[in-house]
Amino acid sequence: MKSTRLFCLILFICLLSNLTRAQAPKANKPLPRIAIAGLAIESSTFSPALTDEAAFHAKYGADVFSAYPFMAADSPLRKKANWFPSVVGKSLPGGAVTRVAYESLVNKTLDSLKKHLPYDGLYFDIHGAMSVVGLDDPEGDFLVRVRKVVGTKTMISTSMDLHGNVSWRLAQNSDLITCYRMAPHEDAMQTKQRAVQNLISRIESGKGKPAYKAYISVPILLPGEKTSTRIEPGKSLYKQVAPAALQCGITDAAIWIGYAWADEPRNHAVVMVIGDEKEKVTRTAEQLAQSFWDVRNQFEFVAPTGTLTECLDKAIASLKHPFYISDSGDNPTAGGAGDATWTLTQILARPEFKADNGPSLLYASIPAPELIKSAIAAGVGNHVEGFAGAAVDNRFAPPVKLSGTVESIVSGDKDAEVEAVIKVGSVHVIITQKRKPYHKEIDFTRLGLNPRTAAIVVVKIGYLEPELYAMRADWLLAITPGGVDQNIERLPYHRIQRPMFPLDKDMKDPDLKARLVPLSDQQ
Ligand SMILES: [Zn+2]
Repeated sequence: MKSTRLFCLILFICLLSNLTRAQAPKANKPLPRIAIAGLAIESSTFSPALTDEAAFHAKYGADVFSAYPFMAADSPLRKKANWFPSVVGKSLPGGAVTRVAYESLVNKTLDSLKKHLPYDGLYFDIHGAMSVVGLDDPEGDFLVRVRKVVGTKTMISTSMDLHGNVSWRLAQNSDLITCYRMAPHEDAMQTKQRAVQNLISRIESGKGKPAYKAYISVPILLPGEKTSTRIEPGKSLYKQVAPAALQCGITDAAIWIGYAWADEPRNHAVVMVIGDEKEKVTRTAEQLAQSFWDVRNQFEFVAPTGTLTECLDKAIASLKHPFYISDSGDNPTAGGAGDATWTLTQILARPEFKADNGPSLLYASIPAPELIKSAIAAGVGNHVEGFAGAAVDNRFAPPVKLSGTVESIVSGDKDAEVEAVIKVGSVHVIITQKRKPYHKEIDFTRLGLNPRTAAIVVVKIGYLEPELYAMRADWLLAITPGGVDQNIERLPYHRIQRPMFPLDKDMKDPDLKARLVPLSDQQ
C-alpha cells in the first residue's frame, strides 16, 4: 500500500510538471520555428510492382496542414509555433519506389527546407517501410540528408507506423521518435499529434533534446496479420506501452513490429524508449523487449487460415453465407501488385463454378485494362472474352482468360477509374482499369453486386476491413502466393539479420540489453 501511495505521489508531481510544461509560452518569447516533412509508404521488395512519384499525392507548403486535423488554423497546437511545412507525401502500399521518384521528392523537400532556415524543430512524418530501388534504409538516408540542411541543433521528432523499421541512423538523427500503438491503426492521428506535442513541449520548456535514447533490436519478424492489437498477445503487449511512456523521466516509448516483406538488415522488431533518466529509460526498454520476446510463440493469424483449396472446399460445403475468403498473398493494401492471377485461375478451374447456376462467387478484383476496352465495346448483357491480370506479377500464373457476360460497367472511381463485372460460370469477376482495394460494401453495390447475398466473396485483402467483417457469416484467410505472401517462411530472404524468429526455429534467447543511441549532435 505504502509503495502505491508513493507511486501516486510521484505520478501526481510528474503530471503537474507536464502540465506546466504544456502551458503557452510567455508573450515576449518568440514562437519556435518548426518545419514539417515526410514520405509514407510501405513497399514490398518481393513484389515486381514499382511505385512512382504521383502515387505519393504530395502536398506542398500550407496544403500540408490539411493532413493533420489537430493542426487546423484555430487549433491550440497551430498557435504554438511558426510553421514551415515543406513536402508531405503518402502513398497506398505498393512495390519499391523508383530511385527517380525518391530523389525527386527528397530534393523538393530539401529545397523547401533551405528557404526558411534556421529551425528550432522539425516534425518528420514517415511510415518507415519504404523500399527504394537500389537504396537501403531510405528513411534513414532521407533524415541524414535533412540533417545536412537543418543542422544538428534542430530538434527532430519522428512519428511512424508500427510496421515501420527503425535503423540505427534513423534513431540517431531523431531526437524524439515514436509509433502507433494500435493495429488496425485507430490511433494514427493521436500518435502524430503526440509527436508534435512532445516536440513543442521540449522546445518551450527549454529542456531540449531528451538525454537518453534506448534502442533494442528484437530478432522477430512477423506479418501484420498475426500482430493485431485487438487480440492477444498483441493486445496485452501494446497495453504496456502507454503506461511505460507516462513514467516520470520518460518522454515516449514505442514497439515496432517491423515490416516483413522487404529484405534488408533493418527488417525486424525494435523497442525504443527515450527520456532524461538513464536508468529508467534503459530498464523500461528492456522490460518491453523482454515482454515481446516472451510471447513470440503466441502470435497467430487473426482468422483461421488454410490453403486456397481448403478454403474453397469449406466455403462451398458451408451453410453460412456470405462466406468470405481473403486472397492474402496479393493484398494491394499491404504492398502486393494486385494483379496476380493465381487465385482466380484456381477458382475458375473448379467444377462447382462452371455452371451459371452454381454457387455465386464474387471475386474482387483483377486489373485488366484491355479487357475493360473490350467490355465497353461489347456492352452490358453481351459476351466478351480476353485476358486479365499478370501484367506486373506473372510469377505464379500467367494472364487468366475470362470468357463470359458483361454484367456492368462503371466509370469514375478514383483508384480503379473504370470497373466492369464479367460473369464466368457462377463467378462474378470484377475487372478494373487500375488496381483498387475493395474494402467497403459500396465498392460492390455500386457495380450491381450484393456482397451480403452472395454465397462466397473472395477479396484481395488481409484481415477483413470493418464493413466486410461485420457482414461475413464466416471467414477464412487463404495463404496464397504473391508479393505479400503471409507465409513469410517461404519468402526468399537473403539480407535480413539471422537468426530471426520464426525463421530460425531453434534460435537461442537473444541479448535484449538496451544500447544507448548517440544524440543527434554527437555525430
Ligand atoms: Zn501499419
